[in-house]
Amino acid sequence: MKLLEGKVAIITGASRGIGKGIAEIFAKNGASVAFTYSSSVESAQALENELNALGVKAKGYQSDAADFNQAQELIDAVLAEFGTVDILINNAGITKDNLLMRMSEADFDKVIDVNLKSVFNMTKAIQKTFLKKRAGSIINMSSVVGVKGNAGQTNYAASKAGVIGFTKSVALELGSRNIRCNAIAPGFIETEMTAKLSDEVVQGWRDGIPLKRGGTTEDVANACLFLASDMSAYVTGQVLNVCGGMLT
Ligand code: NAP
Repeated sequence: MKLLEGKVAIITGASRGIGKGIAEIFAKNGASVAFTYSSSVESAQALENELNALGVKAKGYQSDAADFNQAQELIDAVLAEFGTVDILINNAGITKDNLLMRMSEADFDKVIDVNLKSVFNMTKAIQKTFLKKRAGSIINMSSVVGVKGNAGQTNYAASKAGVIGFTKSVALELGSRNIRCNAIAPGFIETEMTAKLSDEVVQGWRDGIPLKRGGTTEDVANACLFLASDMSAYVTGQVLNVCGGMLT
């Protein structure tokens, strides 16, 4: 059984990493996929071709999730192309790590804009569509760092904790219209974002995880599949930790 047959999903930041993993699993489960990216034109084109080859409609859009007007224009374009939207995955995110002592105002603002304001922009832009349908599943990518904090990531942790507060509030506000909103808090998932870290740091993370490995993009994508599908019809306002037991 294909869990997302006939559904249309928008995924922000899917040219690589976790977003790409979600796009692939969603397409394999029958969803049409509209996805965004910031600057990776070639990877986005390659993903579009890969998803189309799976027999689903798919299209990549270059769109800055941190920009309020671009988010609105994106939703308008996707509705014109795909007819409707059933699932929104707010996945786009960046890091600009530094100790607070050395963190610039620009690096604080940029991380909040891309990781948190983007979630507001996209959710606000899709809200009318979901209200009309009296259905919709919104999944926001938080992080274990947003739950427990992390030295050297005050900007990132604040953005990801903000995503959790936003998620729970949307769940309370829109639950009566059958619109669900949940967050996923991935632990240490091995992508380009984590490839910036030294081998020593990476091994340190792996050793500290009860399941003794970093997560894969597929591990996170499978949790998204559950939260996007009707399998989770009675689940809203939750934070699902996909972290190999790190937060236990
Ligand atoms: P990644 O490999 O660095 O990929 C980030 C994606 O976001 C890329 O597709 C990038 O597009 C896109 N993007 C960046 N800024 C954007 C913007 N302003 N507008 C639209 N798209 C934008 O990151 P990842 O590791 O897959 O992480 C995905 C999400 O999971 C993030 O929210 C991250 O905070 C969260 N997360 C990751 C981990 C982990 O261990 N990796 C753990 C917890 C949470 P371009 O390719 O064009 O730059």
